[in-house]
Amino acid sequence: WLDRLKTGLSRTRNQLGALGSIFSLRKIDEDLLEELETTLLMADCGVEATTALLTELRRRWKQDKLETGEQLQAVLAEALRNLLLPLQAPLQTDGHKPFIIMLAGINGAGKTTSIGKLAHHFQAQGKSVLLAAGDTFRAAAREQLEEWGSRNNVVVIAQEGGDPAAVAFDAITSARSRGIDIVLIDTAGRLPTQLNLMDEIAKIRRVIQKAEPSGPHEVLLVLDANIGQNAIAQLKAFDKAINVTGLVVTKLDGTAKGGVVAAIARTIPKPLRFIGVGEGIEDLQPFDATEFVDALFS
Ligand code: GDP
Repeated sequence: WLDRLKTGLSRTRNQLGALGSIFSLRKIDEDLLEELETTLLMADCGVEATTALLTELRRRWKQDKLETGEQLQAVLAEALRNLLLPLQAPLQTDGHKPFIIMLAGINGAGKTTSIGKLAHHFQAQGKSVLLAAGDTFRAAAREQLEEWGSRNNVVVIAQEGGDPAAVAFDAITSARSRGIDIVLIDTAGRLPTQLNLMDEIAKIRRVIQKAEPSGPHEVLLVLDANIGQNAIAQLKAFDKAINVTGLVVTKLDGTAKGGVVAAIARTIPKPLRFIGVGEGIEDLQPFDATEFVDALFS
């Protein structure tokens, strides 16, 4: 996974890696710090996280009398790791049976494919899984889940053109009677500006709670890393509507904007449960701050 992560993060790595070459040849001065600042902003770390990182670097530069770029890079890696550590909180599913996970996000963020990968992840832990095809707008999303389910021997609850809240309700009832460990509920993509659809997803959440008063046990927002800084606005809007409890950041492999996770950490820290670095079934893994920073800098 570490190699995969490293390859996956290569574009963000190159973005930050540009620093490496600057660092190794230079002595620390204000020009170098300014270049570093620009590079962090270009990797979509956002103003708040970039400022926080720069403040820490300046402090350590003076306090520890750092001289070489290499030393500064080590301090940057450490500061970034400290910034990201609060996001590291792997999803624990043992507290409830069934453990109900609802997924939300805009179209194309990677919800449906992430559900397949998550189902695989939980099955590998010996858990049984049931899927709810709650994206009733897109027939392709339902078919994709049904196909995945039949290939992997996983029950998929679907209703052609049905009400997504009803699909979620049925899925929970069915999971309970079958003694299933984990229910993954897909939802249709929507934009925070589509207020009727935001109301709808809030309703889906309420209906899940009717089916299981302790649930949903996890509300995952799936964010495409390519949207960079927009992720913050999206997260705030979805959080307001459905109280997001965890994040999945996908497509870190296709982007130089991997710094967005630092922006999230600084502005609206939520557990980053999983990160996606490719289309393969193993390409979605729990987020680990140390691994992530090592993959970027080593
Ligand atoms: P949804 O509309 O949110 O359900 O999005 P989909 O699950 O249909 O995913 C949209 C596209 O993104 C598909 O082609 C996926 O294969 C692709 N995708 C999802 N996650 C990743 C990832 O981590 N890396 C890459 N490269 N592609 C991904």
